[in-house]
Amino acid sequence: MNNIGVLMTCPMSEYLENQLENRFSLFKLWNHSSPKPDFLKTHSSSIKAVVGNTKIGADANMIDSLPNMEIVASYSVGLDKIDLGKCKEKGIKVTNTPDVLTDDVADLGIGLALAVLRKMCVCDRFVRSGNWINGDFGLASKFSGKSVGIVGLGRIGSAIAKRAEAFNCSISYHSRSKKPNTNYKYYSNIVDLAADCQILFVACALTEETHHIVNRKVIDALGPKGILINIGRGAHVDEPELVSALLEGRLGGAGLDVYENEPNVPEQLFSLENIVLVPHVGSDTEETSKAMADLVISNLEAHFKGMPLLTPVL
Ligand code: NAP
Repeated sequence: MNNIGVLMTCPMSEYLENQLENRFSLFKLWNHSSPKPDFLKTHSSSIKAVVGNTKIGADANMIDSLPNMEIVASYSVGLDKIDLGKCKEKGIKVTNTPDVLTDDVADLGIGLALAVLRKMCVCDRFVRSGNWINGDFGLASKFSGKSVGIVGLGRIGSAIAKRAEAFNCSISYHSRSKKPNTNYKYYSNIVDLAADCQILFVACALTEETHHIVNRKVIDALGPKGILINIGRGAHVDEPELVSALLEGRLGGAGLDVYENEPNVPEQLFSLENIVLVPHVGSDTEETSKAMADLVISNLEAHFKGMPLLTPVL
């Protein structure tokens, strides 16, 4: 397979880069001196596969500029950076990395909820600053037993539910359809879900429909004691509305892994103590990044050997 051209869109994993380099003819979109359109034009005939991620996937322009592309293998489960319509139209196959990252993202979601409610980052700063000798820290809020609402009861949403159940939390959810195999309470309307829960986790896919699914109405329904945890995508939340709700005390707190304009984060959030911010690291553990890379490689090898894909999207 050494003569098959594979394009990586941006740096994502050194291990994946090495594995691709050992098997294919690897092109790195970021690692050359010519402008990107010229680079793509020069190599378009040899590139048969694109490996993208949550930052740069395969948009219509890229797909159009690579006429021999057969497959997009995403180093992510989210598909929002891939023009799926265009891939379908052109018969390009698409794969992603489901399941292998589910535990990590769910763990982080629960970790964020605990960190916000138990003020773990503020506590950490309190100890490091030496302030403890001046008096005790004060009280935080309990996580166990709170009511949890989940937007998108898919792989990650279900894993969050399972973890939250172990904390004796009651679970309800919103998605496009009621799931047959669960006793969790279903809400067809996200505003009703937000009004009836204390912690709202966002774990759905980002699509045109779910863009800003958490808007002012949802935030106000969650209310001044409610906590929003977003481990989905930044664009699920209307960020200016979230910022003003936090600044005005209309929302109790937030734990965020994802933002609308990454890596830019609204600076007004930096001084707030009722939020915890992490830099889109949901699946970023040594173990999971290797598993994701191995799945990308296995999908590419399966495709070029004419075998069924392991995790097909299209
Ligand atoms: P999944 O199993 O496909 O679950 C996605 C869920 O979204 C489905 O249960 C679906 O339920 C729901 N959904 C789709 N459209 C909806 C709508 N209009 N309204 C409400 N719910 C809707 O995917 P997953 O593996 O759990 O991953 C979920 C998302 O997490 C990914 O798409 C990605 O964006 C994000 N993610 C983030 C990180 C991170 O690092 N922070 C890492 C991995 C994934 P219905 O079909 O019933 O509506």
